[in-house]
Amino acid sequence: MTEVPTSEASAVDQGRVALVTGGNRGIGRVIAQHLAAEGFRVAATYRTGDVPPGILGVRCDITDTEQVDAAFAAVEAELGPVEVLVANAGVTRDTLLMRMSEDDWDAVIDTNLTGTFHVVRRAARPMVRARFGRIVLISSVVGQLGSAGQVNYATSKAGLVGMARSLARELGGRGITANVVAPGFVETDMTAALDEKTVAGYKAQIPLGRMGASEDVAAAVAFLAGPGGAYVTGALLPVDGGLGMGH
Ligand code: NDP
Repeated sequence: MTEVPTSEASAVDQGRVALVTGGNRGIGRVIAQHLAAEGFRVAATYRTGDVPPGILGVRCDITDTEQVDAAFAAVEAELGPVEVLVANAGVTRDTLLMRMSEDDWDAVIDTNLTGTFHVVRRAARPMVRARFGRIVLISSVVGQLGSAGQVNYATSKAGLVGMARSLARELGGRGITANVVAPGFVETDMTAALDEKTVAGYKAQIPLGRMGASEDVAAAVAFLAGPGGAYVTGALLPVDGGLGMGH
């Protein structure tokens, strides 16, 4: 009888070092708390405010490569090399295409796409050295569905899928997984700006009939970062109540 290879030992995942970008509020804050509750040693970046208690806070604007490098160096000094990277920080600048300024475009691409590239690139070398890594990029349902008024945002979020799948191919041989989590509409500051009519319109299209909670997203991230996600790479995991029907 052939021996079935065991998946990576769960014990080894205890105490892994995780870094979450944008961990001071919204979904990122809850991801950081969730990972900490699961036994990861967690650091989180912030530009404003602060990170939750028990999390190592590192100030960082992800559009600035020097700040990214300094943030990783601080985590390495305090906790050790980052083994799990959750690239969560993101922004919107919604407006219709014909009104979209260069500035609206650049602000969103610079943060959501180029900023994510900065953190992923900085995270990769120590992961390659350790022959272990888990990279989770937070995209959005609109990256696959498109969204009127969000050409900049949807483009940036679709780009993350190509990024993760390329990382999965490039780094898979070194024991590094790269996946995308695509939330639907989650109750945070980002969606608080939507008026009631728009929210009701969205809810009507969600088979589960409700907005998502940050905890819903955090649970999916924890799965990919933990032992259960050992053999999952290049995947796009929707957490959207069925809004995108698997896309
Ligand atoms: P919030 O607006 O509540 O929080 C955004 C986070 O990103 C903040 O921590 C913010 O930091 C950080 N951030 C923004 N720009 C930068 C930057 N240049 N450098 C470092 N950090 C930055 O958003 P959500 O929590 O709702 O969203 C989190 C992620 O989930 C985003 O990528 C978003 O696109 C995605 N998403 C959200 C959905 C939703 O419905 N809410 C749906 C689908 C995807 P600061 O406080 O300092 O500005």
